[in-house]
Amino acid sequence: MFLQGFKVELRRLLIIFVICVGYGVIFGLQWWLLFTGLFLYVSWLFYQMYRLNKWLIRGTDEPPESSGLWGEIFDNMYNLQRLQQTETKNLQAVIKRIQEITSALKDGIIILDWRGHLDFWNPAAQRMIGFRTKDQGLSIINFIRHPKFVRYFEEGDYSAPLEFPSPRTDSKHLELQITRFGQNERLIVIRDITQIYQLEQMRRDFVANVSHELRTPLTVINGYIETISDNNAMPMWEKPLQQISQQGKRMSLLINDLLVLSKLETTEAGHNQKEIELEPLLISIKNEAEALGNDKHQTISLQCAESIKIIANEKELHSAFSNLAINAVKYTPEHGKIDLRLWKDANYIYFSVTDNGPGIDSKHLPRLTERFYRVDASRNSATGGTGLGLAIVKHVLMRHDGELKIISELGKGSTFTCVLPHHFS
Ligand code: ADP
Repeated sequence: MFLQGFKVELRRLLIIFVICVGYGVIFGLQWWLLFTGLFLYVSWLFYQMYRLNKWLIRGTDEPPESSGLWGEIFDNMYNLQRLQQTETKNLQAVIKRIQEITSALKDGIIILDWRGHLDFWNPAAQRMIGFRTKDQGLSIINFIRHPKFVRYFEEGDYSAPLEFPSPRTDSKHLELQITRFGQNERLIVIRDITQIYQLEQMRRDFVANVSHELRTPLTVINGYIETISDNNAMPMWEKPLQQISQQGKRMSLLINDLLVLSKLETTEAGHNQKEIELEPLLISIKNEAEALGNDKHQTISLQCAESIKIIANEKELHSAFSNLAINAVKYTPEHGKIDLRLWKDANYIYFSVTDNGPGIDSKHLPRLTERFYRVDASRNSATGGTGLGLAIVKHVLMRHDGELKIISELGKGSTFTCVLPHHFS
């Protein structure tokens, strides 16, 4: 098919050649006529090229009419142009649709190029952050200057979302999640979480206030119960008073743990941090554990390879480590074995508490650090646990950029390991 134009063109050239040579032979001017014929043909070719160029420059008109090879070239180019126009239209329709969708979104969408500079944002992001059209190409850090964001953005670990106060107004709170795509470009999705944040704040305040308000009356009640128990002469009241006193103490423990947790939640991480030598801290925790398990005749050992220091909040760290040691004492039966170990490697400091107690079924492990999560209600009430110990441990470790690892097997025992990053030491 595509040879058709060529054939026409060859025939045309042949006819010119035959006519020129034929007449040339008749009149004895074959070279002149051949030259003139070819000259006219080449001029015609130039004219076609001129028309093609003119049409290409104008772009939109119908192609010029022509025959033979040139006619085919014009038609093919015209078809190509039409195809490209259709594809461009389709692409524009898709872009328009995406723009409509992103404009309708309540969440803010920001696209950053490989340098972290603004490439695209939707109206919601514009409202939340306050971009203007002329800001395109500027670094995102010029607009979200909060130190938490700057650190998160530069460290490049975007596995968890980040919460931060809105750069426009203090009363709003935003949550942001970054995803990498393409050539190290980044997509940022921002959500307004003011309502959730306020609810969470209300919950924290409520727990803190209730615990605080309950503490004083409970101290008074416990005090009177103790006095009454000490002076009680009636044997029939002995058991009830003992139970009231036991439950009163349990409530005090619960309120104290709730207050510790709310303090961990409401104060900024990083305050009151200083360099701490860990060995003396662990010796005092070991002594506390021994005192608590005195009548259980457990063997408690401490292995501390070398002098290890850490920059941390001593009170918080003490509370986390002692919670683990106290749990081991509480849940390990008489004559059990408890090992406290401290060691470090190039990146982390580890503190582990291993016991040969009842162990925990693996199905409970993922939820063990939730507040009031009970593996077994009877185990809890027998040991007088509050159900908040491991939640406190988790919070303290989180505030020091660390984590809690739990390995446990039913009937064999458990190992709770605190992993703290080395950059704190
Ligand atoms: P509690 O104050 O009740 O001890 P925790 O948050 O410290 O609360 O612990 C949660 C639950 O995990 C406990 O109720 C207990 O069942 C289980 N647990 C914690 N430590 C141990 C341990 N060393 N051995 C067995 N079970 C444990």
